[in-house]
Amino acid sequence: MSSPYRIRVVGDPVLRQRADEVTDIDERLVRLCSDMLATMYEAPGLGLAAPQVGIQKRFFVYDLGAGDGGQVLINPVITEGDGEWEYHEGCLSVPGLSFDIVRPKRVHVTGTDLDGNEVDFEADELFSRLIQHELDHLDGVLLLERLDDEQRRDAKRQLRQRVMDAPEPTSTRGPFLGLR
Ligand code: ZN
Repeated sequence: MSSPYRIRVVGDPVLRQRADEVTDIDERLVRLCSDMLATMYEAPGLGLAAPQVGIQKRFFVYDLGAGDGGQVLINPVITEGDGEWEYHEGCLSVPGLSFDIVRPKRVHVTGTDLDGNEVDFEADELFSRLIQHELDHLDGVLLLERLDDEQRRDAKRQLRQRVMDAPEPTSTRGPFLGLR
């Protein structure tokens, strides 16, 4: 099955905007989530946030492969974080690049599920990292903002090189790649 969405990549302004709260959990949202999960599985990735497919709403889909299938978290908020955990982090919107990034090891999260129920839970290690990464997308933040100076120089160099080697259609690219 072919993916219903094209995943937006670095340089697309939609990845740099803060997404709006979801106000209605309706059939349309359920269908969007199902399509986004299909896109995520095809990529493949562990998580996909709405802005990555051009939708400016605060929700994301994920599947950590724990056997409980695709999940959805709507209007997520991290209320607490503690500890430090390093993980080699990548992003479907920054294809081909990944970096060792330290973020809080555990987070406490609140939000809403696709049935409209309030959820409130602790996440640790990979699950915690996924939530922090996807929530960044909802705030218009890419993992490039989480790099140290040396990693950032390396990322800029690789992204610049890629543009020279294989220019993508100009419609998906800004004049530069959005790295500050
Ligand atoms: Zn990402």
